[in-house]
Amino acid sequence: MTNPAMIKISQLHKSYGSNQVLKGVDLEVDLSQVVVVIGPSGSGKSTLLRCCNGLELAQEGTIDICGQRLIEHGVILPEKELNRLRTQVGMVFQSFNLFPHLTVLENVAVGPRTLRGMNAAQAEALSMGLLAKVGLSEKAQAMPASLSGGQKQRVAIARALAMEPKVMLFDEPTSALDPELVGEVLSVMKLLAKEGMTMMVVTHEMGFAKEMADMVVVMDGGRIIEADVPEVIFKRPKEERTRAFLQAVL
Ligand code: ADP
Ligand code: MG
Repeated sequence: MTNPAMIKISQLHKSYGSNQVLKGVDLEVDLSQVVVVIGPSGSGKSTLLRCCNGLELAQEGTIDICGQRLIEHGVILPEKELNRLRTQVGMVFQSFNLFPHLTVLENVAVGPRTLRGMNAAQAEALSMGLLAKVGLSEKAQAMPASLSGGQKQRVAIARALAMEPKVMLFDEPTSALDPELVGEVLSVMKLLAKEGMTMMVVTHEMGFAKEMADMVVVMDGGRIIEADVPEVIFKRPKEERTRAFLQAVL
């Protein structure tokens, strides 16, 4: 049997008012696959990712995620099931969105405590393990404001992992970082990928795409214009628009 699709998007259409931002997107991400989404600003990358987490409502098409139908022709899962599904779909944004009044450890532990019903000791043990994984054990008691951007983003990743998600969505996780801090965040993402995490990653880090992506998806104007293995996308893309985009970012 082939790997089951962890994310299956079919004919997704999404508009903001009269602005059509997704115009029939089809995409499958299989178990343990890393799919990197690239494309110019405004092409619909963030919207696509946000639809996969039920943060945005698409008017047409379907999304199946972790074996569950999230949305079908504009009808999304009821609140309770949606919240359960969201615990299986971790999301990391460009802006880290840590709770400023909580310590690093509390930021990671709050999800398992409130949403997974763990007691304080269990949640702390889990969180310390995750902070070790992202290389921040020694920052457990620090406040977010005292961290660098790269450290904040690693905490945000640990916080997402604390829900033990089956899929991780990353929306330009390194775009807000000073260049010297990008590598430490990409390292953590590479570690996750190597462990078999299913990942959908919007990024302009073409090195990461070349090294880690099973498939690179190129979006333009609300459509996927090309999707292939990195060797093809970066060396011999079929679409002129892909070539032009890569020339602009590389
Ligand atoms: P990308 O992530 O590729 O830069 P986005 O998905 O953010 O693209 O945006 C795609 C289009 O949708 C853009 O034209 C943008 O202006 C529009 N858009 C995004 N979010 C909203 C919103 N909340 N309300 C209205 N329009 C939006
Ligand atoms: Mg975006």
